[in-house]
Amino acid sequence: MYRKGVLDLADMTDLPREFREALAEHACIGLPTVERVTPSADGSRKIVLKLEDGGRVSAVVMPDDDRTTLCLSTQVGCGFECAFCLTGTMGVDRNLTEAEILGQLLLANALLRDEDRRVTHMVFMGMGEPLANLKAVVRAVHVMTDPKLGLGYSPRRITVSTVGLVPGIERLAREGLGVNLAISLHAASDEVRGRLMPVNRSFDLETLMNAVRQYPLAPRQRVFFEYVLLEGVNDSDEDAHRVAKLLRGVRAKVNLIPFNDWPGARFRRPPLPRILAFQSILLGAGVTTTVRWSKGEDIGAACGQLREAVPA
Ligand code: SAH
Repeated sequence: MYRKGVLDLADMTDLPREFREALAEHACIGLPTVERVTPSADGSRKIVLKLEDGGRVSAVVMPDDDRTTLCLSTQVGCGFECAFCLTGTMGVDRNLTEAEILGQLLLANALLRDEDRRVTHMVFMGMGEPLANLKAVVRAVHVMTDPKLGLGYSPRRITVSTVGLVPGIERLAREGLGVNLAISLHAASDEVRGRLMPVNRSFDLETLMNAVRQYPLAPRQRVFFEYVLLEGVNDSDEDAHRVAKLLRGVRAKVNLIPFNDWPGARFRRPPLPRILAFQSILLGAGVTTTVRWSKGEDIGAACGQLREAVPA
């Protein structure tokens, strides 16, 4: 099932027919239902999945020259209430199971197979907080990476992103999975971060950065920091210098994400020259920094835009 991507017992024709029939009496392969696949003008696709209990989550497939990245959800909704995030306005309904997380990958690969492609990279950056559902995420990663029984992906092609749940970061470090860690930073002062991200009131920047420094890294591996740029909130030259200072001595890579709008949002994306000025300050301070122009903005699939209608 994992190695060949065969998702129907009846199609496992290398097994004796009687055995397949016996299997079907005792087991089933339960995948979420693909409710719709929405293509974006930029080539990305949002897959909206309906779960057994009627809940909905989405997974986003993002093709780039030589890679195809899948953005995975880990919870129905999210309970962390970051002020700039649409998913955060819906609250958390429940954790996804290990099977529902893996199901997103299996279904994305099935979709891509018709085009002779396959998911090459995965980011846990969809709906929900992966480290608030750590057990299921760790189990799913084991299946994704197991070379014999699982799908055989390199852990270095998998990135787990967190709002900054320090105990979760510590537990993830102890699991020794070798996956990349991404931190949603978004501000380099406790004052601003606490306003944008309530989690900062439980785990402040110093506590967070101490946990990040303990995260085990392979020789050329780095910790990613996401930084959503919000006009007049966290986008000044001074903010950029503060980020550079905070990351001093950390093997870091910063991804600047210009704010993606949603109806009712209280924030705005800074103008392009401001974005580039912010980036160049970080580059000047020796911090590797890219601007991530989100994919799928036109179909509500970009960072922070995932929210599916709740079933009636
Ligand atoms: N809960 C995890 C995984 C979500 S990753 C985490 O917070 O890291 C999604 C990323 O998009 C996070 O960095 C999030 O802060 C960011 N984001 C949320 N809303 C956004 C918006 N409107 N525009 C740009 N980025 C946003």
